[in-house]
Amino acid sequence: MPVSENSLKFDRDHIWHPYTNLNRPTPTFGVESAEGVYLNLSNGQRVIDGMSSWWSMIHGYNHPELNQAIKDQVDVMSHVMFGGLTHQPAIDLSKKLVDLTAPDLECVFLADSGSVSVEVALKMALQYWYVKGLQKKSKFLTIRNGYHGDTFGAMSVCDPENGMHAMFSGVLPEHFFVSAPDCKSDDDWKPEFIAEFKSAIEKNNEKIAAVILEPIVQGAGGMRVYCAEYLRQVARLCREHNVLLILDEIATGFGRTGTFFAYEQADICPDILCVGKAITGGYLSLAATITTRKVADVIGGGQDGNLMHGPTFMGNPLACAAANKSIELLLSSDWLSNVRRIERQLLDELMPCLKISSVADVRVKGAIGVIELKNSLDMHKIQPRLVELGVWIRPFGKLLYIMPPYVINSDQLSVLTMAMQTVALESL
Ligand SMILES: *Cc1c(COP(=O)(O)O)cnc(C)c1O
Repeated sequence: MPVSENSLKFDRDHIWHPYTNLNRPTPTFGVESAEGVYLNLSNGQRVIDGMSSWWSMIHGYNHPELNQAIKDQVDVMSHVMFGGLTHQPAIDLSKKLVDLTAPDLECVFLADSGSVSVEVALKMALQYWYVKGLQKKSKFLTIRNGYHGDTFGAMSVCDPENGMHAMFSGVLPEHFFVSAPDCKSDDDWKPEFIAEFKSAIEKNNEKIAAVILEPIVQGAGGMRVYCAEYLRQVARLCREHNVLLILDEIATGFGRTGTFFAYEQADICPDILCVGKAITGGYLSLAATITTRKVADVIGGGQDGNLMHGPTFMGNPLACAAANKSIELLLSSDWLSNVRRIERQLLDELMPCLKISSVADVRVKGAIGVIELKNSLDMHKIQPRLVELGVWIRPFGKLLYIMPPYVINSDQLSVLTMAMQTVALESL
């Protein structure tokens, strides 16, 4: 459906978009339809989506099989409450999640968004120590540059300056933060890289319920990549100091970093895992928190053993049907070759940008490509410029980054990397 000029004016005057100012609206484009890797804009332009609608649309838009899965489900039952009722789509999805994650992860909480799955993970960790009589373990330890969502618990473990929520710092519970990891690859690992984390956990473990972090790639809080050895050390220190490990794979899950889950690269298993974003192939909002039998048993063994969370739209059948189909599509495709192919091309086409003097850093991991500029980009100018270049890329701050749908072909990917290079050259 075309978006008229009148509608766009109403949008500017009345509707908040993510992280926007109604008094100073940034350019916002109407989308008429979407197909494969393309968004068809109301201004008649067709742009290649480099964002996968924020990590989620991994199979591309308007996918016939995903469309059909939802159509089939809507004719049977679009929603029922999950309190006291259950259904096959939720059971099938939970089975898949148990099978696909590490063997110890076997208990599933279906949440309606990534932020909610993080809230549930934090609650699980607090409830675990509460039942064990260690109520003092009520803080979290995390690394800077993290992003875990926009609700209050999640905000409190986001980067305190970078995490988009600095103004709420007085209201948020205070947790422990250490510097973001600095190690780029396992080959140049040095014990110094973990020193600050180690001393924080040694000093404060009696107050710490869990460590929470994004494994291998930190997303919206800085688009940083770090080595698997850091994660291995974190997992070891958590075990040694009686602290639970929560991994937030909402951005990295479902193949994005070159393994099905990023934690596989460190050969570890978290106590609690959050997944979301790509879980439904970008079709509907859904996320999950998955934990071990050990954690579930402790929580369940408490005087009031109920896990105290239960969203209205928990386990929505349409979202579960989309997730079941998306995971089937992923597993029946050669997703790993696709991600590796994208990674190779991103390395070839983005690394040369390091020579451009406006560029501070270039990072590639799996199907993720990042150019960090030396100066912040002006969204009012840069968003229309990128559209003019035929791409949908949404930079923030100094970061110009893409995580395209896995089905993107090499010509389409080149259009994205060329646009990034052009913007870097124009920022000189
Ligand atoms: C997007 C994201 C979240 C929040 O998910 P929502 O669905 O937006 O609430 C949490 N953690 C990470 C790592 C994310 O990328």
